[in-house]
Formats: sequence, C-alpha cells, structure tokens
Amino acid sequence: MAAQRPEVLISEVAPRDGLQSIQSIMPTAHKCQWIDALVRAGLREIEVGSFVSEKLLPQMADTGAVVTHSRQHSGLCVLALAPNLKGAQSALAAGVHKITVPISASEAHSLANVRKTIAEMLNELDQIIQTVQQHNATSGKPPVVVEVGISTAFGCTLAGRVSDTAVLTLANKCAAIGAQEVGLSDTTGMANPAQIKRLFTQLHHDLGDRAGAAHLHNTRGLGLANALAAYEAGVRTFDSSQGGIGGCPYAPGASGNIVTEDLIFMFEAMGVSTGVRFEQLLKARALLEEFLPDEPLYGMTPAAGLPKGFKWPATPTT
Ligand code: ZN
Repeated sequence: MAAQRPEVLISEVAPRDGLQSIQSIMPTAHKCQWIDALVRAGLREIEVGSFVSEKLLPQMADTGAVVTHSRQHSGLCVLALAPNLKGAQSALAAGVHKITVPISASEAHSLANVRKTIAEMLNELDQIIQTVQQHNATSGKPPVVVEVGISTAFGCTLAGRVSDTAVLTLANKCAAIGAQEVGLSDTTGMANPAQIKRLFTQLHHDLGDRAGAAHLHNTRGLGLANALAAYEAGVRTFDSSQGGIGGCPYAPGASGNIVTEDLIFMFEAMGVSTGVRFEQLLKARALLEEFLPDEPLYGMTPAAGLPKGFKWPATPTT
C-alpha cells in the first residue's frame, strides 16, 4: 500500500487576480475554456472572478456567467472575490461555493482600494456573513464558505511597514465575526521568509484550523522562498497564478502572483502532493498563451522542462 503523502491545496487565482490586473479583456468563452483546462489539470479550487463594479474592472464584468459555467465541474470549489455586501449577494445568486473578502491591514491601502476604513470593512464582513448564513440556512445546498484574505499583511506600498500586531488583531476580529478561513496576502510582494514564518505560525496559534491560505506575489523574486516558509509554518492552501500573470502597477516589469507551474514543481519534487498533472497544466498554459498573445507569461519550470527521469507524481520515499 502506498504511503499517504502530505497534501497541499493549490487555489488557482489567475482568472481573477491575473486577469483583473491586465488591460486586455478575455472573452467569456475563452475564460471558460481555460478554466476547463485548469480543471483537467487537477486544480480543485479556482478563483474565477470578482463581483465588483463593471466600471471599475470591466475585465470582471462576466463573473456571474463564468461562475455558472464553472459550477458544471463536480468537485471543483468555485471561488469568487466580493469586496462588499452587494458583491457577496451577486456571488450567492450566481452560485459560488466560496466567497473571499479582502480586508486590508493598512488603513491607507483600505481607503485607497475600497474607500472604506478597516472598521467599515469589518462591519461589511459582518453583514456579508449574516447574509451568507441566512442563505445557507434555506438553500438546501452545501453551505457557502466565507474566507477573508488580509491584504497588505506584510507591507504596504502606501504606508510602508505594517505591524504584526495590526495583522493578527485584524485576523482574530475576522474570525470572531465568523469568517471560516482567514488567510494572509502579500499583496505588494514585500514579504520575506522570516516574516512569513513568524506571522503564519502566530496565525495558526491564534486561529487553529481557521488559519487560511498564503497569497503570495513574486514581485521581488521571493515568492517560492515565501511559499516554502509558509508550508513549514503549517500552511496547506496556496494561492498561485498560471503563468504568474498579473503584475503590479507599482512595480513595472515585476511578475504577479507566484507561478502555479513552479509552485507545484517545488511541492511535487519535495514529495508533497498537489493533485495537479504537469502535462495537462502545460496544455492550459498553451491556451492562455493563445488567448493573451500580448501578455508575458512567467515561470521557470515550463521553460526548462521537468528534470530528466523526474517521475510525476514523485513516488513516496517511505
Ligand atoms: Zn494578489
């Protein structure tokens, strides 16, 4: 009998975090085809879009249709971002399985990003959770989960340093309000591995199994080092983006989220199961390349290929 391998959940965020940060608007049919290919590659959770104002982010205007399509894949957790109650109501109406609410640990970023203070966002979260609970009580379907991603948890382009205390206090408040998962986001790509380890260790200490995903950006090349540090601190859910698409308007030339292809190679090479098939993931990447011909795609493993003799998935060592 094969030994049970440790597992991680890769939450693919490119259809949201990636597509919202680039100029080109991907047609709905292309988004759906690409998501289908990601599911074929074995991804079990995909953030398919964001319920925000179309004027603000026209790239996300078709999120409802993309959710409807994605729900046809049984076993896929269809996740969407909602920054406010209105967005969460649209997400529920569309039939998402999970809603992610971004709340910034930096007051300056919160005001710039959602034009609300942190206190106002906590109030919004409270209303979202009440609405979702009412929905869950009557829907007759598996309950919709609310997760919070604490943005700028490791530093803010506007305010600079963000204190550990501010992040952890906010995380505890979100859990007390009723968020089932609270993750930490390195929105600006400012985190380092020591900081990641310290904050996620404390987050697990405070929240137990409500401690959520690591959402990391590769802005300064520390993405995978940070992912490994988070893994060692007990994190088992990782957001990443195919081809690392996205980038940051404040860091020209920098890639966006950590690259799914490289992240799963790292884990599989370590003997940690991702459930993702590399060859199929490359097929999804080829579609992305075809649909976004003008966007650079990142990733070292797709360029270098798998090492000679590398077995995928790697055989357990014990
Ligand atoms: Zn992000």
